[in-house]
Amino acid sequence: MALRTIISLGMDSQAGLHCLLTRAEIDSAVKRLASEITADYRDKTPLLIGILKGSFMFLADLVRQLDFALEVEFVRLSSYGSGRQTTGKVRMVQGLRSAVRGRHVLVVEDIVDTGITVAFLMDYLKKKKAASLRLCALTDKPSRRRVPVDIDYTGFEVPDKFLVGYGLDCDEKYRNLPDICILEE
Ligand code: 5GP
Ligand code: MG
Repeated sequence: MALRTIISLGMDSQAGLHCLLTRAEIDSAVKRLASEITADYRDKTPLLIGILKGSFMFLADLVRQLDFALEVEFVRLSSYGSGRQTTGKVRMVQGLRSAVRGRHVLVVEDIVDTGITVAFLMDYLKKKKAASLRLCALTDKPSRRRVPVDIDYTGFEVPDKFLVGYGLDCDEKYRNLPDICILEE
């Protein structure tokens, strides 16, 4: 991303941001995922559950590529305090307001890292007796996995680097970058 753009977003030009996935690459991945999801869910009126806050941008772009009946929900889970390290403990900060029983549920996540967050939510949803339960993740960092997670729809495999942009934050900053960037130490 151009330095000028970073500065105009009010960000520290010294921060060491390196573009990993451009807006155009993300767009084409979103379109590919949308066509896979369309093939599987067109007649199922699925309930898409985005995990806040990181997935807000991905979910917004994804649903605009899905031209069939669906519903959108959000949960807010928290495993990170501030900064870059997972605490390993997941809390549900904001729960579901829609019934899950009998629904075709698709969880939408920005990144699967250790897997702890999404494994927690999938376990929770399994107990709610959805008709089906799948996971779509824009990015997957398999080298960091600590608990096994089945990802049904994957955008990109990414290296073991701390990523920001396109919804992903560091201490709440950088979510508004249109690209996904590596934030150096
Ligand atoms: P996990 O529980 O799989 O370790 O982590 C899941 C959550 O941690 C993600 O939803 C995301 O919010 C955050 N996370 C994991 N890796 C990164 C990363 O590289 N950058 C950012 N900004 N957040 C991450
Ligand atoms: Mg997240």
